[in-house]
Amino acid sequence: MSGQPTASTTRATVYGYPRQGARRELKRAVEGYWQGRVSAEALRATAAGLRRENWRQLAQAGIDEVPTGDFSLYDHVLDTSVMVGAIPGRYRAAVAADALDGYFAMARGAQDLAPLEMTKWFDTNYHYLVPELAADTVFTADPTRQVAELREAIEQGHRARPVLLGPISYLLLAKPVLDASPLFEPINLINRLLPVYGQILAALRAAGAEWVQLDEPALVQDQPEAILGTAARAYRDLGRLTDRPSILVASYFDRLGAALPVLAKAPIEGLALDFTGPAAANLDALAAVGGLPGKRLVAGVVDGRNIWINDLAKSLATLGTLLGLADRVDVAASCSLLHVPLDAAAERDLDPQVTRWLAFARQKSTEISTLARGMNQGPDTIRAELAANRAALSSRAGSALTRDVAVRARVEAVTEADARRSQPYPERSVAQRAKLGLPLLPTTTIGSFPQTAELRTARADLRAGRIDAAGYEERVAAEIREVIAFQEAAGLDVLVHGEAERNDMVQYFAEQLNGYLATQHGWVQSYGTRYVRPGILAGDVSRPAPMTVRWTSYAQSLTAKPVKGMLTGPVTMLAWSFVRDDQPAADTARQVALALRDEVADLEAAGVAVIQVDEPALRETLPLRAAARPAYLDWATEAFRLATSGVRPDTQIHTHMCYAEFGDIIEAIDAIDADVISLEAARSRMEIARQLAGVGYPREVGPGVYDIHSPRVPGADEVTSMLRTGLEAIPAARLWANPDCGLKTRGWSEVRASVENIVSAARTVREDLAEVVS
Ligand code: GLN
Ligand code: ZN
Repeated sequence: MSGQPTASTTRATVYGYPRQGARRELKRAVEGYWQGRVSAEALRATAAGLRRENWRQLAQAGIDEVPTGDFSLYDHVLDTSVMVGAIPGRYRAAVAADALDGYFAMARGAQDLAPLEMTKWFDTNYHYLVPELAADTVFTADPTRQVAELREAIEQGHRARPVLLGPISYLLLAKPVLDASPLFEPINLINRLLPVYGQILAALRAAGAEWVQLDEPALVQDQPEAILGTAARAYRDLGRLTDRPSILVASYFDRLGAALPVLAKAPIEGLALDFTGPAAANLDALAAVGGLPGKRLVAGVVDGRNIWINDLAKSLATLGTLLGLADRVDVAASCSLLHVPLDAAAERDLDPQVTRWLAFARQKSTEISTLARGMNQGPDTIRAELAANRAALSSRAGSALTRDVAVRARVEAVTEADARRSQPYPERSVAQRAKLGLPLLPTTTIGSFPQTAELRTARADLRAGRIDAAGYEERVAAEIREVIAFQEAAGLDVLVHGEAERNDMVQYFAEQLNGYLATQHGWVQSYGTRYVRPGILAGDVSRPAPMTVRWTSYAQSLTAKPVKGMLTGPVTMLAWSFVRDDQPAADTARQVALALRDEVADLEAAGVAVIQVDEPALRETLPLRAAARPAYLDWATEAFRLATSGVRPDTQIHTHMCYAEFGDIIEAIDAIDADVISLEAARSRMEIARQLAGVGYPREVGPGVYDIHSPRVPGADEVTSMLRTGLEAIPAARLWANPDCGLKTRGWSEVRASVENIVSAARTVREDLAEVVS
């Protein structure tokens, strides 16, 4: 190899980088601005400083083409709405008065102004603000921010590529305004939106953009022919524009499938494809369409959603194959690095043996540039990196953390019967009725009670060493006493201990299980200024000691009413963590399920008769492609049953799931075989009760009657009418009365009133039912 760059030199690039800064400076600046402590000017200066530092880090890591426009003060989908002028009517006055305050009003609401709806970005834990569009939405181009950020990067000496959300995905992620005609779909607006994209492309070209990236992740979902046709026309029209940069259309999170030939044929100059995980199928598909002659291929070979080091030799081999399929092949992460923490080197508390298995955004950038160098100058020039990589991979494979013989033997020995209750539901239900003696329409809550300022102070005091463990535990015990006393006085039938001791429903368990690692600085944006620090499922999972028995038993000792044990289910334990990539998720889920199974057994042995295993993430980790869903639901539901099936017939297993759209997983809700399921339903007026009844769901259901996402307290009459609606679908013997979700985000005054109204509504409906019977 000559080492001379040729015409088709491979570049290293990424699509986006963590926004928050090493010390979450962005969070402090934005929240400071909201509180009036930080001026708009200071906020802008902090943001510009963070962008400068991000580009500097990328350039230092050897990334030769940096992204611009990926940065955001809150969310890039909201930024796209601003860019195309799609400001819903109710915010226009606020935006006109002050663009920045108006922007935050859309994100968070303001006095008498509801925020935009927020939802998950594909199957990640990032949330975006849902564009609201109407048949009469008028788009106008506002390229200001994109142009300014491109200029910044160029002035700082970088080769830069603006990254924009593409028009098809933008419209597919939008929802119609509330009063829209049922015939209106946002995608119908494509012809009105394209000229606006055209103007933005022209403005970017004028500002010096050689390339522009248009992200179209919605095309990795199963799309009907009509949408593929719309995409084909849209990229034909954009491609025909003359005053524009070269267009790179990026896809990620899965394979492109039927959209691949569409984009391959489009008159655009480049395509970015994901080659990790299930998206590796893109490789064969690309060969099948004859590659991308004359086009630039950006190959996402470094997993942008996980925190494990790349297998560099394997990636080089993939890249080698791809070289024959396009005019030019560049190296990238599979998606924006927004979904991983910034820097593994900041983790000083982890075992250095383990740290070398980890790659956060900075390390991934280095991996990408190393691969690009290997492509350009030959593998010999990265010999040292390849050797170190091989050594780290084999240290991981051979480590006692990743291979615990006892755990493996136990998983091996699992039989089909272990994941099945000893008796079918009808018999269990008789036994449970006899044991629990609950009234019709039993009342309960979902688990957590308000996380008060005192509790947060207690946790902060413990961390800061102002109180010791005993002092902290006394405060938790006091809280539990208060929560139990309230529930008894309110007249609830099945009580909870309130989860006062839990910082987070996954972290609390992750900290107590072997196999999980915790980071100190591994923050990832969840939404706006909210960041989470997901645990890392690094090794084989086992439970060294009971995790919840002490506080649950304490709560049970304070009352004669049943107290629900409260656990987080295996699917959610995986979904909200970084999961190991060296074995199927199904295997990891089985290990977590067995650890939970022991906890369930210990709770039962301690006299807990009702145990709830929460699975709020079961719906959200559903694979993007329908073809992959049955296999996922298979292992997900098996893991739940494995965790919960070891109990006696008269122990009642509950589960809880949030989010309103259950249509896709209605069969899975049945397959987990929980005795009772509580679900979100208050906003959709019991729709889920009808859906479940429609498929003949045979067990007990608590469709939520109190929308805990809102500060509104539902009146007793309103709850009564919801329960009556529920009874039209579910017979009284199988209907429960409960809120939509946990109460931890609400204030005590709202919770007190709402719970009392639920109890009183259940009593009213029971009286009606008694009259009918007598
Ligand atoms: N038991 C949990 C709680 O009440 C459930 C939370 C959730 O569904 N996300 O807080
Ligand atoms: Zn919930």
